[in-house]
Amino acid sequence: MMAAQKLPQLRGTLLLDEPMARHTTWRVGGPAQRFFAPADLTDLSVFLRSLPADEALLWLGLGSNLLVRDGGFAGTVIALHAALNSLALTAPLTVRAEAGVPCAKVARFCARNDLLGAEFLVGIPGTMGGALVMNAGAFGGMTWEHVSAVETINRAGNVRTRGPADFQIGYRHVQMTEGEWFVAAHLSLKHGDGAAAQARGKELLEQRNRTQPTNQPSCGSVFRNPRGDHAARLIEAAGLKGYSIGGARVSEKHANFIVNTGTATAADIEALIEHVAETVERMHGVKLVRECVVVGERG
Ligand SMILES: Cc1cc2nc3c(=O)[nH]c(=O)nc-3n(C[C@H](O)[C@H](O)[C@H](O)COP(=O)(O)OP(=O)(O)OC[C@H]3O[C@@H](n4cnc5c(N)ncnc54)[C@H](O)[C@@H]3O)c2cc1C
Repeated sequence: MMAAQKLPQLRGTLLLDEPMARHTTWRVGGPAQRFFAPADLTDLSVFLRSLPADEALLWLGLGSNLLVRDGGFAGTVIALHAALNSLALTAPLTVRAEAGVPCAKVARFCARNDLLGAEFLVGIPGTMGGALVMNAGAFGGMTWEHVSAVETINRAGNVRTRGPADFQIGYRHVQMTEGEWFVAAHLSLKHGDGAAAQARGKELLEQRNRTQPTNQPSCGSVFRNPRGDHAARLIEAAGLKGYSIGGARVSEKHANFIVNTGTATAADIEALIEHVAETVERMHGVKLVRECVVVGERG
């Protein structure tokens, strides 16, 4: 059962038992006990202060790297993409993007302002917040290469600015400060030819459509690439292309993608992830590390 209510002093929307399948690109996932979409940053601060100190939180961008199990999330989801969506030039070569802004919008905004460096973001179907957490990257570019500062919020609703030196930043991984989450990024870019950046972005999107199953629900690459190799190559060489469990299938087009053929449950996807990892380890002796984030209760 789902219900929506306005909290008295809050302007955002609180949903109860909200199916997470509506908010993840895999289109699976059981209900979140509470799902809050703040009206803006002030509203988010007020909401955070109102929560019990031990409330489990799940921060959500566009759910493009997230597997929520079928039993749902026993806590509060904080959904930023419809809320923290301001995007502005704050200095001639600096863009401030709030955590809920889609990456593609950041890429287009930079190109329109003759700023280079963010073109790779055009094909990443997540938010700026998600890109910071995952150090999202593509075609040689990585999010944190362009970050000069970030703004974070804590459970007391206090916002602070931090520099890249405050985080351990790796390939598709960033060590977060405990109890703080991202609300904005400051990107430092180079001046250049915006039309060329737009053309480059278009090229990158075309390349994606050629090589990835972009028309089927997925979370992109399931595993990180091991050093000096490609997870997709190892999975394909293990004979797993097209292998299915329930409605989850290893994509024929790109072996590091698991697609929902329409009837997958989160349990199907998780079982397939485990099967792929075990098979690759048995056949190639390589332990694949999962890139997507798995949360929630088993159904
Ligand atoms: C078709 C497809 C192609 C993809 N291609 C790429 C690619 O080329 N390169 C790449 O790197 N990724 C790729 N991805 C994966 C995904 O888009 C990225 O990881 C993206 O950065 C996730 O952003 P999101 O907003 O969807 O995050 P979500 O999936 O909503 O969240 C991901 C994680 O970040 C946390 N989180 C989200 N927002 C915040 C916040 N503000 N503060 C703290 N924690 C937060 C969540 O709790 C979760 O743990 C692809 C996905 C798909 C579906």
